[in-house]
Amino acid sequence: MTAPARTRSSDELITAEQPVLAHNYHPLPVVVARAEGTWVEDVEGRRYLDMLAGYSALNFGHRNPVLIEAAHRQLDRLTLTSRAFHNDQLAEFAESLAALTGLDMVLPMNTGAEAVESAVKVARKWAYEVKGVPADRATIVVAAGNFHGRTTTIVSFSTDETARSGFGPFTPGFRIVPYNDLAALEAAVDETTAAVLIEPIQGEAGVIIPDDGYLAGVRDLTRRAGCLFIADEIQSGLGRTGSTLAVDHEGVVPDALLLGKALGGGIVPVSAVVARREVLGVLKPGEHGSTFGGNPLAAAVGSAVVGLLETGEFQRRAAELGVVLRDGLTALLGKGVVGFRSRGLWAGVDIDPAIGTGREISERLMREGILAKDTHGSTIRLAPPLTITGEELGSALEALERVLTA
Ligand SMILES: *Cc1c(COP(=O)(O)O)cnc(C)c1O
Repeated sequence: MTAPARTRSSDELITAEQPVLAHNYHPLPVVVARAEGTWVEDVEGRRYLDMLAGYSALNFGHRNPVLIEAAHRQLDRLTLTSRAFHNDQLAEFAESLAALTGLDMVLPMNTGAEAVESAVKVARKWAYEVKGVPADRATIVVAAGNFHGRTTTIVSFSTDETARSGFGPFTPGFRIVPYNDLAALEAAVDETTAAVLIEPIQGEAGVIIPDDGYLAGVRDLTRRAGCLFIADEIQSGLGRTGSTLAVDHEGVVPDALLLGKALGGGIVPVSAVVARREVLGVLKPGEHGSTFGGNPLAAAVGSAVVGLLETGEFQRRAAELGVVLRDGLTALLGKGVVGFRSRGLWAGVDIDPAIGTGREISERLMREGILAKDTHGSTIRLAPPLTITGEELGSALEALERVLTA
């Protein structure tokens, strides 16, 4: 017997979640039921322009036809082997991702946090086996205000009390220095340092862009100090800032790159550590792994994502429309916007606290048909799909002006 079809309203679905779903998020009160491109639709059929793009997991838009086609094709052939066997999709994924980034080897994982965890392990092993750091003495230098994920080791070096409080004891071996401060970094690096791990732009912190020369300085310093430069490009990478990687703006190649979010095309979780051979070469069979990492569905989607980036079209769009976004936000300075930082199609917008909290502004934007999310306090993060049109971007900026000047 089949149960009669039931359709529940947005309000009913939100209420139904309360007793059964862990309260580790505070979502905006919109219940999305379908999406295409830059638009999502809720249970009642209301349409919203997506100005968050799954925190950059949807750089190529919702259900990008090229990526959906690659996923469908793979779903009909092979979805999972585990790494006990080879699959026919993984070689191309690894080759194309290495070529795209100018690095040598790929360690496929699933979530961003796993890529970070994997890089921590690899950097430590590299320190012991290649650099010669005494056993269990390796340190990794990170920046204050970082966001690298939510696992126990990663929150061990977070400076966000909400992310840490109640989750100790923490993993040792990390040193925290101020972001965008080369002198502090230089002082923290010593003969035990395995790596410097930073975001080239700090996303969760409010799209904090370091001074020109900082990334090149980190590259130079880590090379001189004989430690690794690991760039977490999980949010900043894959077209978002107007280039393939955020480090490209300074022409810098790190020793290891962490990718995630958009690498899965908004379809499946796909992450990777991409690094020089000397770095990932330290891993031997059995020392690290993942049941799902590098699965054929993930690899097929990941290859298709790399294929989209190979044309340069999305990077170009992000750079060109990034100018529209910057100009639009500049025009709002003094009209409720007290400051902003942007690169490509990515902005952190500081709202005058007198007008409302970031949360309140996000809720008002939602009622105007725009989905965006606050990060810290009165900062709103804008990160639309890179497929957004100039008109759509213009309408989002107009809605923001309406909300701020109402
Ligand atoms: C989102 C993010 C992560 C964590 O990725 P998950 O897939 O959520 O585990 C790590 N680093 C940065 C910079 C991120 O933005």
